[in-house]
Amino acid sequence: MPELPEVETIRRHLETRMLGRRVTDVPHLDARMVKLGETDGPTLKHRLTGQSLIAMDRRGKYLLLGWQEGGWLVIHLGMSGRLTMQAPDEVLRPHTHLVVAFGDMDLRLSDPRRFGRIGWLDHRASLDRRLGQEPLDRRFTGAYLYGRLVARRAPIKALLLDQAVVAGLGNIYADEALFLSQIHPRTAAETLSRDDMGRLVRNIRRVLRNGIQHRGTTFSDYVDALGRQGEHQAHLNVYGRAGKPCPRCGAPVATEVVQGRTSHFCPQCQPESSRPVERQTREIRGDTVKHAEDQLDGGQSERGQRSR
Ligand SMILES: [Zn+2]
Repeated sequence: MPELPEVETIRRHLETRMLGRRVTDVPHLDARMVKLGETDGPTLKHRLTGQSLIAMDRRGKYLLLGWQEGGWLVIHLGMSGRLTMQAPDEVLRPHTHLVVAFGDMDLRLSDPRRFGRIGWLDHRASLDRRLGQEPLDRRFTGAYLYGRLVARRAPIKALLLDQAVVAGLGNIYADEALFLSQIHPRTAAETLSRDDMGRLVRNIRRVLRNGIQHRGTTFSDYVDALGRQGEHQAHLNVYGRAGKPCPRCGAPVATEVVQGRTSHFCPQCQPESSRPVERQTREIRGDTVKHAEDQLDGGQSERGQRSR
């Protein structure tokens, strides 16, 4: 599914090619996709028509399109969403749920699995409040991650996917960052040191930057805004490489399900920690990971819809 590098790739394309354009019509809008914010389909269509696009932002895995008269169109691509710029005379792909016409150019959203969602926000603060630090922001530091996770018993992998801790990380880039950091995905977060967290933060930034440089990772559905597949899948160390040799030591890459998500790791380079998982000083119960997105859109997150 699209993670930060894929969404950022799309954002950059749209920023260079769409900014300043005016919406002439919204010829197609599937109201069932309108799941974010408090606006229904007809109101969303009304709000967009005639507006000029003046900002193209991203927050975590959300795209934010800002308009001259105020407000934001928010788009989350879910598992299989494609957001592409196309000529108006091009045939609509199956499962197209949104077409925004900008004169001689359409912005189209298609999504066969329908886990994507769109909506309107008058102010983006409600989104910002629910999401954790942006991993490419300088405020995302080892000290931040250590402070957020020092009392958490849950596996580090699960917490890295919690959008309220780090916004934009998903299964692929979390596995890659843990591999580079030589941390087993099941390691209890509270057993990781400040140094471990510093190393992890540096590697999270590294894998995300590399992913953006290669215009994202395509395993099945993802394409950039110009309809091209990403190229980062050729540069992955562990994700999607079960049974293949670890690029560092040659041991076969292993998989294990950690809180419902298949995790890829090297059992040699990322041994399970010998440090005690439990501390006597704290009793934290029910430390399962809640997703910030659940609160924003009434529980329609990727949770429970995982296929890998
Ligand atoms: Zn290895």
